[in-house]
Amino acid sequence: MLETKGYAALAAKERLQPFSFERRDVGPYDVLITISHCGICHSDIHQARNEWGISLYPMVPGHEIVGAVSQIGSAIQAFKVGDRVGVGCFVDSCRTCTACREGLEQYCDGGTLWTYSGQDKAGRITQGGYSTQIVVDENYVLRIPSTLSPAGAAPLLCAGITTYSPLRQWGVGRYHKLAVVGLGGLGHMAVKLAKAMGTEVTVLSTSEKKREDAKRLGATSFAVTSNPQTFTKLQGYFDYILDTVSAPHDYNAYLNLLKTDGTMILVGAPERPTPVQAFSLIVKRRRLAGSLIGGIKETQEMLHFCAQHHIESDIELIPIQQVNEAYERVLRGDVRYRFVLDMGSLK
Ligand code: NAP
Ligand code: ZN
Ligand code: ZN
Repeated sequence: MLETKGYAALAAKERLQPFSFERRDVGPYDVLITISHCGICHSDIHQARNEWGISLYPMVPGHEIVGAVSQIGSAIQAFKVGDRVGVGCFVDSCRTCTACREGLEQYCDGGTLWTYSGQDKAGRITQGGYSTQIVVDENYVLRIPSTLSPAGAAPLLCAGITTYSPLRQWGVGRYHKLAVVGLGGLGHMAVKLAKAMGTEVTVLSTSEKKREDAKRLGATSFAVTSNPQTFTKLQGYFDYILDTVSAPHDYNAYLNLLKTDGTMILVGAPERPTPVQAFSLIVKRRRLAGSLIGGIKETQEMLHFCAQHHIESDIELIPIQQVNEAYERVLRGDVRYRFVLDMGSLK
């Protein structure tokens, strides 16, 4: 077993604290990664606080992991010691169901094994990237292109793929008008990616203070949602809406901004449900959809897309000792636009 240091929540709503635990030994198909950086996703906060009701403790969160390969299993050919690699939201799946065979491991019928707060075949609780090292099967390890900085690339492993995948799935591109709701970790990646795909992007935000940032990130327009005129002016305007908001809010107000046959895609995952009026959908044959992260193949494709278009996350690099304060700041919307933990601070 491999002695590993990390930060964990020991129970719901407890502050994260230093925590030592054991990783499994490196098996023939495993890669040992020394973690250099890990992003803080809002899902980490939902999970650490058991807001979705599925959390397992003790929990070392973190699924935006970047590091270097420090040991390889006897059967590994595709990776070598020193390679820069990443791990996202899952570390295994059944590998035989239709979803797995199509590269949609996040929708595995046999149950995707989440990077943390999952239970592996041996019955151990998986532990995530707020830690010094991780052992992962080679099929679930991503390559980080050398032109991307490790810290700026880490958030691509969740925030990047979660926004890239629906844009690709629905073919959002040059002739479309897209609204991105919420300019946070996911939202700012959505703006950058959609802009690179040639899309006209409008940011809909609760915070007037983000107007200049939205433009700098590549948005064509910006509107604040506290102003009721936003909802009359933009009625029926958008082909697509990508909703990245982490807290309950009125979906109907946004659905009314879609044109005929428009689609609103939820990626934000608030802890409580929101009623949807049938008429919000019926009157213009609108669709309400959802999307969960992305598969390994598409995540690798997204990383290459980002390298090609010089896209990284806008980050604030912090030591692990500041993780609890960072959680509070994420909840206040006070981050531009992703906290990334410098895991060197844990050694
Ligand atoms: P984040 O950085 O906190 O961003 C969320 C943004 O939502 C905030 O910056 C804020 O933007 C807006 N917002 C917050 N509270 C709001 C409210 N009450 N009403 C309206 N807008 C509000 O979080 P994130 O890391 O991007 O994650 C966003 C959500 O996506 C979380 O629920 C997370 O769990 C989920 N998620 C889902 C997937 C998936 O696969 N589907 C993957 C990763 C994360 P403004 O200041 O611009 O209003
Ligand atoms: Zn995430
Ligand atoms: Zn499967």
